[in-house]
Amino acid sequence: MTMISEAELLALVPTQLYINGAWVDATGGKTLPVYDPSNGKLIATIADASPADGKAALDAAVAAQDSWARTPARTRSDILRKAFDLVQTHKNEFALLMTIEMGKPFNEALGEVGYGSEFLRWFSEEAVRVQGRYGSNPEGTGRAIITQMPVGPCFLITPWNFPLAMATRKIAPALAAGCTVVIKPASLTPLTTLYFMKILEEAGVPAGVVNVFTTSTTAAVSDPIIADKRLRKLSFTGSTGVGQALMRQAADNVLRTSMELGGNAPFIIFDDADLDKAVEGALVAKFRNIGQACTAANRFIVHESLAEEFAKRITKRVSEFTMGRGTEEGVTIGPLIDNKAVAKADELVQDALTRGATLTTGGHKVEGAGSYYEATVLTNVQAGSKILKEEIFGPVLSIVTFKTEDEAIDIANDTEYGLIGYVYTESLSRSQRLIERLQTGMMGLNAGVISNAAVPFGGVKMSGLGREGGFEGIHEYLSTKYTMTPNP
Ligand code: NAD
Repeated sequence: MTMISEAELLALVPTQLYINGAWVDATGGKTLPVYDPSNGKLIATIADASPADGKAALDAAVAAQDSWARTPARTRSDILRKAFDLVQTHKNEFALLMTIEMGKPFNEALGEVGYGSEFLRWFSEEAVRVQGRYGSNPEGTGRAIITQMPVGPCFLITPWNFPLAMATRKIAPALAAGCTVVIKPASLTPLTTLYFMKILEEAGVPAGVVNVFTTSTTAAVSDPIIADKRLRKLSFTGSTGVGQALMRQAADNVLRTSMELGGNAPFIIFDDADLDKAVEGALVAKFRNIGQACTAANRFIVHESLAEEFAKRITKRVSEFTMGRGTEEGVTIGPLIDNKAVAKADELVQDALTRGATLTTGGHKVEGAGSYYEATVLTNVQAGSKILKEEIFGPVLSIVTFKTEDEAIDIANDTEYGLIGYVYTESLSRSQRLIERLQTGMMGLNAGVISNAAVPFGGVKMSGLGREGGFEGIHEYLSTKYTMTPNP
């Protein structure tokens, strides 16, 4: 499948912290283990940063900020473009590494390499297009100069579910804008970011511009960084609860934040939908990444006239999935990230069943090594079930029915989250109404996958603040400066 063996690949992955252009051990020499979720085996032992290491990483980013901001945009752009090319050259290694540390099937991991690396190319192109304005004020008494400045040193915190894409989606726009960064990947999947740092180094990122630390004592190391007045921006992707806590901390310094948080995506199938398309869309929107995506369809809201046929077709397809380690040929469902995730999926399924749902396939955790949960379909899920309120983050598809368009929209919007909604309809006017009435930052209209580096990704309500990707993405790392000057 790949040119390199797992052992050879793991030997290439750095296990230290990257601070100020050097690979270093944690002060005090502490380490933390990284496991393969498909079998529970130890795959690496990496540096476990202390608060002093976190401070050193921020010191380095602060020291490098001025010269990186003054580096010509074309130079910054060239470095990002080189990083894109290098990731392409090493795409099989990145994919295999993500499969080993996170569990997604190899082909899906390759897909993430494609998606994740595109942020490097997109923002290498955006780096040279940051512009300002110059003009007379309406009274004709003076001139306004409006420029875009890098916000300054940034702290980036990423989750475990898309180890490469979550890192590139933040690092690329920050560097393009002229900001230096400290990045902390999730301790469950730190290896991809460490390997990516090697690529950035090879691409020519100067010392101090990107600093990486991994830690098991997240709050102890992160809190002082967030409290430090030299930090100018916090960009977080993860759960809503942690995001809220970080926003409270950020308030002390009125720190700028971007928050990419949880979701509870509705997937609405209207009676005028093309059911073949809806089934294909449902499979990817639900089961990609083993259901562990913030964009994963969480609630299937299906018109009552189609619900039985949809459930029949989807159950057949889901029962044909092949579960196993993502490196094995033909595997479509890998393990969940850990046993806690398995217990959570099972708890939600059992709660739905107790309240009257019907199980058509799956519904059990798999005994033995590795954290596997069967791909599951539930029909007739009753209002009030936890599975309709909470992010499932697992391979469980649950179906509720509706009669009218208004009812479907009410059910879809009945959540504190607002990241994405999926809508299947062949009606143009209904599509337009849904675009306006669905309370989400994004929508898949007859489309089960929407992610792309060239578009603004992000949510409303408790799904977050800010956008990543697109023209909007770089502005998360720029601050607008207005200068007044008299007429010449
Ligand atoms: P998480 O909130 O537990 O952790 C995310 C990151 O925050 C990790 O690196 C973690 O170590 C760190 N963290 C945890 N506590 C912290 C603290 N007190 N201070 C500083 N950092 C802290 O989330 P997770 O389980 O890693 O990821 C899954 C969640 O991420 C889901 O809710 C999912 O919807 C969300 N997510 C959102 C998006 C998006 O773009 N909206 C994308 C991917 C994942």
